[in-house]
Amino acid sequence: MQLTKIQSNFIYRHGIDVAKVFDATGLSKTEYGELMKEGGYVLAVGVTRCRKGNHSLRTRAGHCAICNPASIAFQSRQEISGDLYVLYSSSKRLVKVGVAGDAEERVVSANKQSYGNVDDWKLKFTVKVNNAGQAEKIIHDALAKFKKPRQFIKDGQYVLAQEIFSCSIKHAIAAIKIRLE
Ligand SMILES: [Zn+2]
Repeated sequence: MQLTKIQSNFIYRHGIDVAKVFDATGLSKTEYGELMKEGGYVLAVGVTRCRKGNHSLRTRAGHCAICNPASIAFQSRQEISGDLYVLYSSSKRLVKVGVAGDAEERVVSANKQSYGNVDDWKLKFTVKVNNAGQAEKIIHDALAKFKKPRQFIKDGQYVLAQEIFSCSIKHAIAAIKIRLE
């Protein structure tokens, strides 16, 4: 697959792996959309050129990625793989559930920033997920009635930590296993 300079600059700038670029030559929008979804591809080349800028790099939904960089940012956030994790604070008896590129790093940063005004977060469980955005939403919805937002100071501002739940570690892990495995 041969990429033009514009295409390779774009994928480099957005941190997209070349392996996530799909050659859609000869396929319709519906066809490549389906295949890309199945294969976890992010961008398509070999597509019809966009009217606005004559670009030939489209998202799974068929939007010109170069004219609409926000659409690719959204797509990657939703569909990037990552670690779905459960942290626990024994001093506050609270659980934090979220997704991150690397759960081990997240627990360090959560303590460093005193996420939710808590600094004894410990990693209790982690599982790799393909669609981090979706997995996070599913599990946050599942634990909604245990939600316990806590204020803390981030970059000098009061913010609300939304990923904190007042339930047992066991419950959080079971809720994940039921839905995602
Ligand atoms: Zn364009």
